[in-house]
Amino acid sequence: MRANPMADEMRRFKGTDEKNPFDAMIERFDRAAQLLGLDPDLYAVMRVPSREIKIYIPVKMDSGRIEVFEGYRVQHNFARGPAKGGIRYAPDVTLDEIKALAAWMTWKCAVVNVPFGGAKGGIVCDPRQMSEGELERLTRRYAAELIDFIGPDRDVPAPDMNTDEQTMAWIMDTYSMHARHTVTAIVTGKPVALGGSLGRREATGRGLMFCIDEAIKKFGLTPEKTRVVVQGAGNVGGIGALLMHERGYKVIAISDISGGIYNPKGLDIPKALEYSRKHKTFEGYPDADYITNQELLELECDVLAPCATENQITSQNAHRINCKILAEGANGPTTPKADKVLYEKGIFVIPDILANAGGVTVSYFEWVQDRMGYFWREDEVNERLKDKMVASFNELCQFAEKHKVDTRTAAYMLAIDRVAYDTKMRGIYA
Ligand code: NAD
Repeated sequence: MRANPMADEMRRFKGTDEKNPFDAMIERFDRAAQLLGLDPDLYAVMRVPSREIKIYIPVKMDSGRIEVFEGYRVQHNFARGPAKGGIRYAPDVTLDEIKALAAWMTWKCAVVNVPFGGAKGGIVCDPRQMSEGELERLTRRYAAELIDFIGPDRDVPAPDMNTDEQTMAWIMDTYSMHARHTVTAIVTGKPVALGGSLGRREATGRGLMFCIDEAIKKFGLTPEKTRVVVQGAGNVGGIGALLMHERGYKVIAISDISGGIYNPKGLDIPKALEYSRKHKTFEGYPDADYITNQELLELECDVLAPCATENQITSQNAHRINCKILAEGANGPTTPKADKVLYEKGIFVIPDILANAGGVTVSYFEWVQDRMGYFWREDEVNERLKDKMVASFNELCQFAEKHKVDTRTAAYMLAIDRVAYDTKMRGIYA
């Protein structure tokens, strides 16, 4: 493995108490399981992943030297169908993080009722320091190592942080070369020309907006009267902000990893995103103040949408969060300790396993279209996505009211209940 002292430090930091994503997932799972009165045998089965795969991936670098990268694929649960989940490339990826993300995929698919279990993959690497050729060789070897474990009926990967349509095309091709025929349904988030779905790129941001559209009604707000703060300007945050801007929402702040911009009168989001694309930063953007990510999270607003990464709202800053609705576009942006503070403050949380489920929903549509060999129009995809997100949002709110619990606990309860039912009906194969 490559020596990278900063990555080691980041991985150590991620592994401590409040910020360990797997511990955060388990804490919420345990609470929901207890409230549901989950059978102890089912509890024991569902609490752990089905399979954890760790691989060492040798890659010939452009220099001619061989480097060995560490990669993972965790398959959390298959009770409801093939496992489904993204692959992330980052220097600070940990197995615990991948385990948490795999479990979240199981709960997310169950919340929106799509017939998949959960999985997640990751490779410890710094894609910004690698050439396209190196990334391609890394991806193909990773896919080849996993060949017996993935497949349209086994486990269907997708993009996540620092992986994209190109990464999926390489995986699809590698898998197809081994299968000796083209297998488009092996991955989702592919280029549209290779069996991808129209609307998939925008699906997570669009699904997030559909949830926010429903949530603001509870506060008597309309898009024009709603001030939105978005952390992250990538696939989820950038596209979410753009769609909300088009819908008439007043997006007053947006950021990337280095910092963000704020204008209480509202930002021209297409212009701001164009600026960030051109300059690789929001710094220097006219018509707005440049602020830190911490300042951005604490801005007074109606909707705060953390769409960047985990552990952004913790016990350290939760009491300074100043929104009515927290819409979690990212996976795991809030720690369980922060949950308690937000609840006491009366903040309405749209939990990640619902708020960002638009991505997996359209991934499901992509998988369906690939298997049919018949492709839908973009407006059909968006309409079906809207149906799913609105129905799931309302179902979740009703469940929370019925059981008198907060929305996050309700989401876990709803998901665990569905997975437990299927696990019980299938029984344990011996
Ligand atoms: P991305 O790489 O496209 O964008 C991430 C954005 O967040 C970038 O603007 C980046 O600069 C910023 N960022 C990264 N680290 C940050 C930090 N520490 N502080 C502030 N900003 C930071 O990634 P994405 O696909 O938009 O994913 C974002 C989150 O949403 C992740 O948690 C991911 O797991 C989750 N998610 C993504 C999808 C999807 O379809 N892309 C679906 C469900 C969940």
